[in-house]
Amino acid sequence: MKPQTRIVCIATGRRKMQFETKKSADRFIQFNADEIRMQSGFAPVRSYLCDKCHCWHITSEQYKGEHLKDKENHHLQMLSKKIFNKISNCEKHINDRQKQKEHRVERSFKRENIIHSYRKEKQEAVRQIKDAMQMSYLEVA
Ligand SMILES: [Zn+2]
Repeated sequence: MKPQTRIVCIATGRRKMQFETKKSADRFIQFNADEIRMQSGFAPVRSYLCDKCHCWHITSEQYKGEHLKDKENHHLQMLSKKIFNKISNCEKHINDRQKQKEHRVERSFKRENIIHSYRKEKQEAVRQIKDAMQMSYLEVA
């Protein structure tokens, strides 16, 4: 699967690979990290959700804080888990619809609308999670 490299992430204005789903970002790391490390000396180690373009990017940086682990606020953890599940669910629907779209070009307009609405729902979930906690670990400088 080819990542979309030509799209510029509005967060930084830099060319970053954008992945619609965490799964595809992680898969990219899994299959390309070794080669990238050989070429450049460092390699992507994890994916993260960009709160600007709502795609997943990859980074060679480890988590900065890991503050979620230590955080005693159980409610926030549960909430973020719930919202992240919602995000994965949206991504799954988007993927399913895109697969269907490839198979059936007719009615694609309707599906495009469905994909659009799931993208919006995902964006809303990203906004919620950002509001719910100061999700500094979502961003990578
Ligand atoms: Zn981005």
